[in-house]
Parts: sequence; structure tokens; C-alpha cells
Amino acid sequence: MRDTWQNQLLQGFSTPAQLLDYLELPSDFGSTKANQQFVTRVPRRFVDKMEKGNRHDPLLLQVLPQQIELDSKPGFSPDPLVERAANPTPGILHKYHGRVLLTLSGACAVNCRYCFRRHFPYQDNALGNKKLTQALDYIRQDSSIREVILSGGDPLMVKNKALSVLLANLEVIPHVTTLRIHSRIPIVLPERIDTDFLAILDGCHLEKVMVVHCNHAQELDEVVANCCKQLKQHGVHVLNQSVLLKGVNDAVDTLVDLSRALFRCGILPYYLHLLDKVDGAAHFDVDSQRAISLHRAMLERLPGYLVPKLVTERFGEKSKSWVG
Ligand SMILES: *Cc1c(COP(=O)(O)O)cnc(C)c1O
Ligand code: SF4
Repeated sequence: MRDTWQNQLLQGFSTPAQLLDYLELPSDFGSTKANQQFVTRVPRRFVDKMEKGNRHDPLLLQVLPQQIELDSKPGFSPDPLVERAANPTPGILHKYHGRVLLTLSGACAVNCRYCFRRHFPYQDNALGNKKLTQALDYIRQDSSIREVILSGGDPLMVKNKALSVLLANLEVIPHVTTLRIHSRIPIVLPERIDTDFLAILDGCHLEKVMVVHCNHAQELDEVVANCCKQLKQHGVHVLNQSVLLKGVNDAVDTLVDLSRALFRCGILPYYLHLLDKVDGAAHFDVDSQRAISLHRAMLERLPGYLVPKLVTERFGEKSKSWVG
């Protein structure tokens, strides 16, 4: 079998037992029931960055279904962002001035336990042609839209051919100047950023921004660094967003190391998000007072350009809300 990114996806881990066995950990540390709510999905190369025998590994905790997810907690709900309210046509989320999110794919290369996607049934539905045409019409008809943000799921789950057609459609819309891609794939499956994809970026005349998603320095390695450097060489600004997660990255040293490691990969920190209060993720929650003090400590230790903005999403606001 050829070692394409699609094959790497197929060869990823898909049950807690498989993951724990590989990491030489007891199987009762995982939960089959939590796995039924939101299935395990993680590429092998991400698992290979985890430490064997360490049940507190910060990468493992992000992807392993655990019993604790089944505890319900007040204030946490299945759809904390009330996304439907800003959904003028399928696939489009238009909440902020000048930019729209276009949700291309419901699927991801990795299933992160803290993600609001865990409660949506649409996980593997790509945006069909008819809906895509409607979404493009929406963008064409609103001349205030300067920036189109490809999102998901993970938009890089979509094949190069389809992306190429989409970009060709976007770049002829006169008011659209900027293409942004929100993707965790450069971190968890950098092989996806292949020569065909880079050629598509070269051929696209829009300003290009990629916002990757990395929560811990241990997720980064030479291959990821090379991938992000390639993106830069092909005219893409590369930024990172993280989620502040208890037990994963809620320590000053960890956050400082992350910013420095991102910088070595040519990535600038953009946002540090408070957790979305989604059912099943309460054990990751860091309260906002602690988040503010961690953020302040980062400001005292790092140059300003390596300190991400601490933000959260509040229903009805015209932008992300700055915390603190
Ligand atoms: C986060 C988000 C954006 C992008 O916001 P920026 O502050 O520009 O990064 C755009 N639209 C929606 C619906 C979002 O949730
Ligand atoms: S959308 Fe992002 S955070 Fe959610 S599962 Fe996919 S990669 Fe993880």
C-alpha cells in the first residue's frame, strides 16, 4: 500500500484498547462507552510522540476516551456555541464583520475529546455540490466579505482536486481578498501538505493564512517544522491557536515552551481559547481566573509576539471576547 496521507488515516488508531495496548498501559484506563459517543481517531505518527507507560501524557489525554467524560456537569451542554443561530445557508457561519466560516468537511484527522464536534452526527459529511454552490452565492452576494475561512471539521480532509475548484471559484469574487484555512492537519498529519497542495496555493492569488492547532510542544517535530516552513515559502502566513486544557497545558512553563517551539517552526501564536463548555469535556476546564493568571505570567516571560490572545466565544458578540 502506498504511503499516502489517505492510507495513513486508514492506518490510524480507532479504539481505546488499541491505543492503550500500543502505549503499554492498562486497558481499563479507556472507556468503551465514551468511545461510542465520539469515536477514537488518531494518526500513528501522533501516537508515536506519546510516552509509553505514561497515563498523564499530554497528547494521550487529548485523544483517549475516558470514563470521566460520562459525568455530566452543570453549565456544560451539547451545543455551547449555539452555532445554528448564525447559519444563513448550509456550510456558512457568518458571525463577524468581513469574514465567514465555510465548513467544508465534518471529519478530522484526529478526534479531540474537548471538541464541540463530539455531539454532531455529521462527522463524515462533506459539503455537497449543491450546498457549495449556494454557499458561494452567499459569499458573492455580500460585498462586505473580504475573508473566507475554510473550516470544519478539518477542511484539509477534502481532496486537492475539490480544493482547487473551490479556490478557483473564490478568487474570482472581487471583494474576497483573503483565504484562511483552519486546520489541525499540519500538526497531526503533515504529509497531507503534499506537492499538489502546495502547487494549488501557488496558483491562488488571494492573501493566504493558515491557522494550525497545537496545544503542546510535544506535538511538534522536524517534519511538522518542515511542513510549516514550506507553507511559508509558498506565501502562507502561519499562525497557531490552542485550547487551554487542564492536565495538558495549564502550566506556565508548558505554555512558554509551546510558544517558543512554535516560533522555531516558523509559527506565531494567535489565540489561546478557553474551553467551550461542551458535555463530556468538563474535566479539561480551567476557570477564567486561573487562565488570566497563567496568561499574565506568559506576558512576563515572553516577547509580546509570542503571547497568544486569551479569548473565549460568547453568544451574540461581534468578535471573540478577550479575557482579562
Ligand atoms: C472564530 C471565528 C472567526 C474568525 O475570527 P478571527 O477573530 O478573525 O480569528 C470567524 N467566524 C466565526 C464564525 C468564528 O467562530
Ligand atoms: S475540529 Fe479541531 S479540535 Fe475538533 S476534533 Fe477536529 S481537529 Fe480536533
